[in-house]
Amino acid sequence: MGYNQKMYGLGSKRSIIREIFEYSKTRAAQIGAENVYDFSLGNPSVPAPAEVNQTIKELLETGNSVLLHGYTSAQGDAGVRSVIAEKINRDFNVGISLNHIYMTCGAAASLSICLKALIEDGEDDECIVFAPFFTEYRVFIENAGGKIIISQPMEKTFQINIADFEGKINAHTKAVIVNSPNNPSGVVYSEETVKKLCEVLTRKSKEFGHAIYLIADEPYRELVYSGVEVPYLMNYYDNTLVCYSYSKSLSLPGERIGYIAVCPKMQDCQNIYLAVCGAGRSLGYVCAPSLFQQVISRCADAKVNIDVYKENRDILYDNLTSFGYECVKPDGAFYLFVKALEEDAYKFYEKAKTHEILVVPCDDFGVKGYVRIAYCTDKSRVEGALPAFRELAKEYQ
Ligand code: PLP
Repeated sequence: MGYNQKMYGLGSKRSIIREIFEYSKTRAAQIGAENVYDFSLGNPSVPAPAEVNQTIKELLETGNSVLLHGYTSAQGDAGVRSVIAEKINRDFNVGISLNHIYMTCGAAASLSICLKALIEDGEDDECIVFAPFFTEYRVFIENAGGKIIISQPMEKTFQINIADFEGKINAHTKAVIVNSPNNPSGVVYSEETVKKLCEVLTRKSKEFGHAIYLIADEPYRELVYSGVEVPYLMNYYDNTLVCYSYSKSLSLPGERIGYIAVCPKMQDCQNIYLAVCGAGRSLGYVCAPSLFQQVISRCADAKVNIDVYKENRDILYDNLTSFGYECVKPDGAFYLFVKALEEDAYKFYEKAKTHEILVVPCDDFGVKGYVRIAYCTDKSRVEGALPAFRELAKEYQ
């Protein structure tokens, strides 16, 4: 038909989240934005740290503008990659160097590059993801020529179900994506879970005679509450690639900046790094935004204030459970994963809409019968929505 039908399908079919977002704008124009309780999009609501904005200003005022806006090396500026390697070593002591870091325009690019680097043409390679999972994984895996395999979680806790996971591994398993803190459940995988996962991976890699790679998708690493630790997967499994992003950790989603870190202890580490460089090249993901490479290298230890997220989490969790909703208390990210009050999450979403509440039905995330509430919004909106959530619950009593 003259163009790629698969790509046409991706472009013409809006994701449910985007669909809701568009509806939200239309509805806000009709009844006023303050009357629409939109919890659909994972767009950070806290500002980037002041030092980030200050650094941008200083760079523009005092930096060499040709260099600042110019191309860097394809894999990113060497000085920037050194700073990132030092930061990772300071935090996690993994002995990484600039030669293991590849700068990207965010976690989406990092994931696409890693998958392209690992999945082999015509080999029927499979990639396991843990439900509930970020829906774009399917797009990235299939685009790299792989097959997505979904492992179902433990009931109620949404931790990884190790037995289910083990049963999904076979000779074609090439990679496994772990996202913790998780979108959409907010769950942080415990150290116990991580250890078991890595034990299975080590044993199965041996059994099948090839490496099974662990891809750690970590845009929410810094968004954790109540001192919960997020295990750094390189310290548990050598064949790990970390996909990091500053979209949420520094509230910079529109600036498109992140990196891939290849574990220095990985078998064939330098060749895998070169495959990452090749995948970046083949996908056109070279020279990540130059100005923002400089910004993040000068703000390596900056943090956003996540107090609002924690407050919103507590208000929503405490109130919704008291109204009769069921959900696991999230330790991180800015999502609450709530059991729909009827079997069909989409119908529940439609009913919530009649109360001006916009949540995301999660069937596409691999778990049926749940909706996601993105609470990266003002506290007043969260508090304002509570009576509507109560009325919605009453409809089901
Ligand atoms: N991975 C997960 C789990 C996400 O939730 C997101 C964005 O919401 C991404 C990756 C993509 O992040 P980025 O904006 O850095 O491309």
